[in-house]
Amino acid sequence: MECSNKKFTLHLFYSTNYAFFVGVTTHMELSKTAFLSNLAQLIPMPDCNQSPRNMYQCQMGKQTMGTPCHNWDLQSETKLYRLQTPSTPLFRPVHHDNIFLDDFAMGTNAIVAVISYTGYDMEDAMIINKASEERGLAHGSIYKSEFIELDHPTSYFARDPDAKNLSQYMDSDGLPYVGRKISNDEPLYCFYDCDKSTYVVKMVKGKEECYLHSVKLCGRVEVKSPCKIACLTYRVPRNPSVGDKFASRAGQKGICSQKWPAEDLPFTETGLVPDIVFNPHGFPSRMTIAMMIEIMAGKSAALHGLVHDATPFRFTEEDTAIDYFGRLLEQGGYNYYGTETMYSGIDGREMTAQIFFGVVHYQRLRHMVSDKWQVRSTGPTDILTRQPLKGRRRGGGVRFGEMERDSLISHGASFLLQDRLLHCSDETTAFICTSCGTLLGPVTEIIEMADKPHHSETKETCRLCGHGKNISEIKIPYIFKFFVTQLASCNINVRLKCQEI
Ligand SMILES: [Zn+2]
Repeated sequence: MECSNKKFTLHLFYSTNYAFFVGVTTHMELSKTAFLSNLAQLIPMPDCNQSPRNMYQCQMGKQTMGTPCHNWDLQSETKLYRLQTPSTPLFRPVHHDNIFLDDFAMGTNAIVAVISYTGYDMEDAMIINKASEERGLAHGSIYKSEFIELDHPTSYFARDPDAKNLSQYMDSDGLPYVGRKISNDEPLYCFYDCDKSTYVVKMVKGKEECYLHSVKLCGRVEVKSPCKIACLTYRVPRNPSVGDKFASRAGQKGICSQKWPAEDLPFTETGLVPDIVFNPHGFPSRMTIAMMIEIMAGKSAALHGLVHDATPFRFTEEDTAIDYFGRLLEQGGYNYYGTETMYSGIDGREMTAQIFFGVVHYQRLRHMVSDKWQVRSTGPTDILTRQPLKGRRRGGGVRFGEMERDSLISHGASFLLQDRLLHCSDETTAFICTSCGTLLGPVTEIIEMADKPHHSETKETCRLCGHGKNISEIKIPYIFKFFVTQLASCNINVRLKCQEI
């Protein structure tokens, strides 16, 4: 931090001196970028972007996986996201170095080909080179901590000495071994319950596969009684998978749609295969010129072994960034426009179009499919309405609202509609009296059989008609029956016109 202050004062000194020599101004901003926030100052050349894109990046900058701390073993934060293989951007504003962001790196340099390839990169989806992913591109993990508290004041953590097989899961202190792979439905920890005077073994419940990163006992050293709180930190491996979110620093976010085999991806004359295939249709409407500049700057930086300054307002209409980096590329033997001849990875033929190709700093965002996927056929239901519960963790359903219903009707998908809204929802069998058309009329009587003891039969009669001649079974959503009863409580009768089919 000391160093950062020095830099700051130095900057101030220059600015004030400048004002003094010119003699025109009395007040002056410290720098042209002083009005930008910390996040905005990390965007490369935001002056070349359409302003909403810069605002999107300010949002996404907060959602990137990176290096939130260095003391991973001491942390007990509920959830921490870590990028395993970060790298420093080759095109970055001075602010990046002013705040020493390299010490808390949060992105990866990817070789990007701007090409519409395979069709799997439609609508902001992007293709990741499978070989790059396997070599560590955007690998990451989540650190989750959990506190275990023993209720009884004299209970303590200990492994049951009589249970022999427990030793493969936990140490003699009753807590799992550090570094152990944690799988569902196996013993996690053990403690002596003084209330019941027995050892209690707790199992792993509802966890995805992870590793035990650390175990910490919480309590005061001077107090002689055993510790009753333990903090278990798990490390969940989260390497990129199809459906995970990525973004460049120009608000160009996208979902990984495929991990494409490297041999099937296009390659350049030198044999370079892209890490990421970015669809060129993402450019015209978004107008993220800064990302185009970054592709060229990143490429020339890699070429000459430099890091280029991406602070805004450094270039002008006369002296453009594109020209500057274009000339640098030319000096390195590349095309002035940053394009390259590429060959199809499928048949090896030369492509007719020149492909824009370079290095972009990509961020991995913390929205991952494995946290969001949801599926349901049948499952837990609400007691009152008998309709599916909501919520991913409970195995609930995704809301199928009126708009979704209208959509299926318009497609003529009536069987699908019935499946979702009846069979997989609150389907029930109800009795209906077809003579009076009521659902509430039929009552079930249990008739004991005189000749067969402990044997009974049921008989439906309509209490409105006084007989059970026209009672039949129908399948209806339970909520309809519920609605009819509620209307009855308001003195409204519902009559259904029935037709034999
Ligand atoms: Zn009736």
